[in-house]
Amino acid sequence: MTDYINSLEFAKQLDQKDILNSYRDKFYFPQHNGQDVVYFTGNSLGLQPKATKSYLQQELDDWAKFGVEGHFLAKNPWMSYHEILTNKTAKIVGALPSEVVMMNQLTVNLHLLMVSFYRPTKQRYKILCEAKAFPSDQYALQSQIKFHGFEIDDALIEIAPRDGEYEIRHDDIYKAIDEHKDSLALIMIGGVNYFSGQVFDMKAIVEAGHKAGAIVGFDLAHGAGNLKLQLHDWNVDFAAWCSYKYLNAGPGSVAGAFVHERHHQNTNLPLFAGWWGHDKASRFKMDKTFVPIQSVERWQLSNAPIFSMAAYKASLDIFDEVGMDKLIAKSKELTSYLEFIVEEINKQKNNCLEIITPKQNRGCQLSIVAHGQGRALYDKLIENGVIPDWREPNVIRCAPVPMYNSFIDIYRFGEILMRLL
Ligand SMILES: *Cc1c(COP(=O)(O)O)cnc(C)c1O
Repeated sequence: MTDYINSLEFAKQLDQKDILNSYRDKFYFPQHNGQDVVYFTGNSLGLQPKATKSYLQQELDDWAKFGVEGHFLAKNPWMSYHEILTNKTAKIVGALPSEVVMMNQLTVNLHLLMVSFYRPTKQRYKILCEAKAFPSDQYALQSQIKFHGFEIDDALIEIAPRDGEYEIRHDDIYKAIDEHKDSLALIMIGGVNYFSGQVFDMKAIVEAGHKAGAIVGFDLAHGAGNLKLQLHDWNVDFAAWCSYKYLNAGPGSVAGAFVHERHHQNTNLPLFAGWWGHDKASRFKMDKTFVPIQSVERWQLSNAPIFSMAAYKASLDIFDEVGMDKLIAKSKELTSYLEFIVEEINKQKNNCLEIITPKQNRGCQLSIVAHGQGRALYDKLIENGVIPDWREPNVIRCAPVPMYNSFIDIYRFGEILMRLL
């Protein structure tokens, strides 16, 4: 990384060497003065693949042509539409096909999975999570605790960074697990903290959690499509993620769920059931007794939302063509180049930018504190055709996404930011 140069020419060379460079053309970029914006918000809403329209059109056409019979006659029959997403999704998160399903939305899936995997007893009822988790996760955990009749203050263990630090130390997580090992029911952590961009050592946390007798689940909203995940091999109990961030499936699109194979045969697991979780062969006998599917599909409630699945499929097919390994190789380069550019700016601007994302534990996102700056900086970035994400009081989150961001994007970001500071 010491070989990097802060110049347009150098960024261009990096783009020419990038084997994924042509994928940028598969996406629509918002425009600013006739030019693509510098879009660093793929961690919030991924860009639209140009192919999405035709995937949606296919389903509209089949609906027009077949009506209800589209469930069987559509090019991709709606009855089993979710199944054509399974293998490719499993590859993205490192799971067996029987362990993943696309259904509902993220917070909904977290609740449905906690119905099965957070079953507190008088003795074991605590949940351990990261402090300042994404608000929806905090509300989900708090409401689960209350739902079961426990006190949030007593039952929720939140692990925060130490004073003056931004990174949560893994040692502090393990220490807390050990301290509460007799009362810990569940560990629920974001695989990547949305604010700091810190990536957690999921494998080690699962091990520590299981040793303490707890279940371990992850929210992978910022992990899916961003990190090399191995949910099966890591022995993760359950996980959920959304598809509209790194997975580019469009606003509010269908979410993912993972349940480890070893739980599939356990018919004692309580769950909220619906007809789509019922054994497929006998589902349409419309019988009174629920016969669960012996896979994660058991947790499905409703028939599949075809339009949002079609939008997801458009992006999924691109992910499958590229593969996570190539994406991650590029991601590491892009993010190191961004880090380099930030350091170059610091040399000239009195170290006013502080990267709070841990160097060793990160995906593509860098969270940058702009010391001495406020919201006005963000407004000016937007005026100048840069779309980063802003968190009060002065944190800029930048996610250069390997699927469509370029090294030139990073150069331009640096050049504009330098001018504005
Ligand atoms: C984006 C995000 C959510 C959003 O939840 P939805 O149910 O999709 O609205 C939840 N949790 C985390 C960690 C997120 O990053």
